[in-house]
Amino acid sequence: MTTLDFNKIRDDFPNLAITVHGKPLAYLDNAATTFKPLAVLEALDTHYRRGVSNIHRGVHWLSEQATLAYEDVRTKVKLFLNAKDDAEIIFTHGTTESINLVALSLGTFFKAGDEILITHMEHHANIVPWQMLCERQGCVLKVASINDAGELDLDAFKNLLSDKTRIVAFTAVSNSLGTINPIKDLIKLARANGALTLVDAAQAVAHMPIDVQALDCDFLAFSGHKIFGPTGIGVLYGRKLWLEKMPPVYGGGDMIASVTFEKTTYNVAPHKFEAGTPPIAEVMGLGAALSYVSKIGLAAMAAREAELLAYGTKTLSAIPGLKIIGTATKKAAILSFVLDGIHPHDVGSLLDLEGVAIRTGHHCTQPVMKRFGIPATARASLAFYNTFAEIDQLAMAIHKVREVFK
Ligand code: PMP
Repeated sequence: MTTLDFNKIRDDFPNLAITVHGKPLAYLDNAATTFKPLAVLEALDTHYRRGVSNIHRGVHWLSEQATLAYEDVRTKVKLFLNAKDDAEIIFTHGTTESINLVALSLGTFFKAGDEILITHMEHHANIVPWQMLCERQGCVLKVASINDAGELDLDAFKNLLSDKTRIVAFTAVSNSLGTINPIKDLIKLARANGALTLVDAAQAVAHMPIDVQALDCDFLAFSGHKIFGPTGIGVLYGRKLWLEKMPPVYGGGDMIASVTFEKTTYNVAPHKFEAGTPPIAEVMGLGAALSYVSKIGLAAMAAREAELLAYGTKTLSAIPGLKIIGTATKKAAILSFVLDGIHPHDVGSLLDLEGVAIRTGHHCTQPVMKRFGIPATARASLAFYNTFAEIDQLAMAIHKVREVFK
């Protein structure tokens, strides 16, 4: 067992204490979004009660304070990811916007016939922006296959790398299968082939330490709400060398150096990518979330999640007619499953009546569902604040579902 008192830690998350349909809530939908600790709620509250101001434009005290606090969070994110420079951290609205930003901006340098390599387990957010780029510019999307366990086929990946590959974009952790990809190896292979790399860290950021210098990736994206922060805030890390060359995507305030009707010149990175008033309060909330996570320690959180995953896998596997989808050797705490003859949506609705919150559907990974020949899965996704009792509550509720459908 890990040494932290994880039951006490639950007091930090008021949302964990609610009841649903008269039952204690077992919140097992953390891959969709995470609950927020008091520190994040307080950061939002403090900003809105005493710190409201726009940033980068005012000379008054409040604006200066807000600007300093906003830029402090940028530095905090830089340290969290071990980036080299604050200029490499762009605030976006989430992983989806971060990936679109790269496709729209970097993509302007791509030509017809250039190839983009992704994997079969990507979230739609790491598929569609590249397809749209292919449609705009005649590039070609290549997809590396996965095996029956939901692991990336490394040989397929290597075979698809060619001298035409411009960027390789892959998830660090699959949101529907739980597979942990060997991202360091993938980046090495891509770089040896002269391709750039983008890591979708949406499902990884709250579960494993990330060091962009050690990884040597060119871009990395994550969302604040998946790491106990607010919705509406995300991060794009980009290697400074590329960000300096890339054109802005959105025009407006803050992203310019000078504007005349004849010619506009742009601000430097990261500001040239942050047009308009950003989500200031949400940035404060993200800062508080990262401090919270650093205080607990990602290693301790990951160790706890591994214990919960092992228990959950054992418990669910013992249920007759239940099949786990996604059985990679290296897995994050995500348990996707199907129940013989029962549609996942029915499973989800009945579990809800027992106070168990899980996600059902294709999880924005329709190609994964197709690969496994199923329309959907039921997915329990765990965070470090979940308990063994909640997994028992899930298992009991699944037994009840089976009774109903007998
Ligand atoms: N990639 C992965 C792997 C995800 O799990 C998600 C969210 N489910 C996203 C991208 C998109 O994140 P967001 O909706 O926060 O932009």
